[in-house]
Amino acid sequence: MNKPLILVVEDDTAVRNLITTTLKAHDYRYLTAANGESAVLEASSHNPDVILLDLGLPDLDGVEVIRRVRSWSNLPIIVISARSEDTDKIDALDAGADDYLTKPFSVEELLARLRVTQRRLDAQSGAVNADAVFTNGKLKVDYAAGCAFLDGKELHLTPSEYKLLCLLCRNVGKVLTHTFITQQIWGRSWENDIASLRVFMATLRKKLEQEPGSPQYIQTHIGVGYRMMKVE
Ligand code: CA
Repeated sequence: MNKPLILVVEDDTAVRNLITTTLKAHDYRYLTAANGESAVLEASSHNPDVILLDLGLPDLDGVEVIRRVRSWSNLPIIVISARSEDTDKIDALDAGADDYLTKPFSVEELLARLRVTQRRLDAQSGAVNADAVFTNGKLKVDYAAGCAFLDGKELHLTPSEYKLLCLLCRNVGKVLTHTFITQQIWGRSWENDIASLRVFMATLRKKLEQEPGSPQYIQTHIGVGYRMMKVE
């Protein structure tokens, strides 16, 4: 199998070197770009497997880079942002980023995010009946029949809980923002909808998770949103 090719977009030389050294040591191939324009160019000419994208770039806004890349490609984009750029991070996810890392991050965190992305890609390419049935660990969602099962037993979900579950399943491995989820489910995103989302999520988790306190399937990203994890 080919080693995955990662495009590292980062204007800070020290951070860029940390990332590329880590990638080299763990059998990844990489390309680098120090600004947004060259990031878009490298992405279109080399078709990397994953983009690691710093949001604070000297020329283009990182979110603009995502929009441009998304105009022709669905390749995974992991955003790297400083803690002070929380709203940017949410904008980046809404523009189509898959995941994010917050600076300062550890080498282990970086590698973990890449593995999550890789598993998502594997799951997509290996999924024969991707459109009909979704399977993840003990969870099975039969989209055609409109029902979900856990360990072979049907889950009794309300229509909103089921919609929420399907949305998360169809985007397995990807962090979905509160705004994105509420817009998909209710067609709008008001403060009230985000509060309702928390309630639906709590009831869905009670039915889905063995230990709702330490969820196995649905991960919370505080202040950002939720993600369905790929379970072995
Ligand atoms: Ca930067």
